Amino acid sequence: MRLVVVGGVAAGLSAASRARRVDPSLEIVVLEKGSRISYGACGLPYFIEGSVRTIGELEVYTPEFFERERNVRIRTNAEVVSLRHAQREVVLGSGERVRYDTLVWAAGARPTWRSNDPRVFHLHTDVDAARLDDHLRAQKPATAAVLGGGYIGLEMATALRARGLVVSLYSEAPHFLHWDSPWLTAMVRARLERARVEVHMGAAVRDAAALRQDIVLAATGLTPNVEVPREAGCEVGRSGALAVTDRMETSVRGIFAAGDCCETNHIVSSRPVWIPLGTTANKMGRVAGANAAGRRERFEGIVGTSIVRVAGLAVATAGFSESQARREGFQPVAAKIEARERPKYFRGRPLTVELVADRSTGRLVGAAIAGDDGALARINTVAAALTARMKVEQLASLDLAYAPPYSPVMDPLLVAAGQLLKAL
Ligand SMILES: Cc1cc2nc3c(=O)[nH]c(=O)nc-3n(C[C@H](O)[C@H](O)[C@H](O)COP(=O)(O)OP(=O)(O)OC[C@H]3O[C@@H](n4cnc5c(N)ncnc54)[C@H](O)[C@@H]3O)c2cc1C
Repeated sequence: MRLVVVGGVAAGLSAASRARRVDPSLEIVVLEKGSRISYGACGLPYFIEGSVRTIGELEVYTPEFFERERNVRIRTNAEVVSLRHAQREVVLGSGERVRYDTLVWAAGARPTWRSNDPRVFHLHTDVDAARLDDHLRAQKPATAAVLGGGYIGLEMATALRARGLVVSLYSEAPHFLHWDSPWLTAMVRARLERARVEVHMGAAVRDAAALRQDIVLAATGLTPNVEVPREAGCEVGRSGALAVTDRMETSVRGIFAAGDCCETNHIVSSRPVWIPLGTTANKMGRVAGANAAGRRERFEGIVGTSIVRVAGLAVATAGFSESQARREGFQPVAAKIEARERPKYFRGRPLTVELVADRSTGRLVGAAIAGDDGALARINTVAAALTARMKVEQLASLDLAYAPPYSPVMDPLLVAAGQLLKAL
């Protein structure tokens, strides 16, 4: 039996590793179109910023490690251009055919914005990062336009400031990070401006030629790589990403999918969503790999948890904002508080917590948390509460840890939950 995995980064290698553990006798081949496997793209903004010295430091495993330790054959520079499922074979760009019994499609996504303008850069792959870094070193551009108010745009605005460029950020949306709470937009904007990033909200840039800056960093969104499996009959969901079952199987039996190329279940709304993130890709990959090797495992889904650092400010969200919750059919009620993440005598800095609940059920449906410190622990607690479909009443009485160096006696999350209970 042979498993072929297409894509050699987060989802693909998690799938291959898990399949190996499930079935030591399985033949496993990973086909990767690029020349590098298993690197943390999430660290690329920090390479550009200068806090990670080389792209090589972001490499988690080498092809040799996989071959030696996991008995997984890795083929780089091997792009799959079509899938002939009736024959159980993939066709590579070179024309070579590779046979499989089961397949995991883990080909990720690609930047949607395309431009032939040499001033335009992306930061999606190691190759993009190397091109940008080389250009920064050799050409020493003085000014940059960053397009996109998502997490990559925000991280890159900060990173390019750290490299000494004058940065302007253009966001087509009137808010950042797909979270439309005015307080969060104002807080992120103030932090960017404090770092001397010029901010243009609601500014759609269609053509880089309209911009006067020396370089343009486009971080305006992704398109999932679904064309090859779609031609082979795999269904695509409303988001444009591959539709999969909770076993990570596509609509074509024997073809599994994982990572940025596919949708998953949103645990709060019980609807399919496409939120491409590395942490999800790894978990999906494990389940896809296990099932492709013969197990029956489930991936329950996500609650959309994320965190990003914007010029020193930690911004974390999970679930739905108030208006997103309304669009999802909930009756949202929100409460926002500001508290110290530690007692004043321990130099506690302010933390803002907004919680959103559904009035008809009393269930927590979302949260946004921002502050210099302490956002991570709280958003992870929220993620657990959302996954457990907890009511605000339960959240408000959770037994959260307290000691002065780490938190105030009433944790900001509990204070916010108490406020929300009153509003409900
Ligand atoms: C700058 C940046 C910062 C990020 N920061 C975070 C973060 O802080 N937190 C977080 O959770 N996520 C973050 N992410 C997202 C995270 O990196 C992705 O969600 C994750 O890499 C997705 O994994 P994947 O395996 O699905 O896809 P990818 O990592 O995109 O891997 C897919 C692989 O498939 C290969 N491939 C594509 N088509 C073919 C083909 N036809 N044949 C063969 N191979 C093919 C590609 O070359 C690629 O190597 C970040 C991403 C970027 C770019």
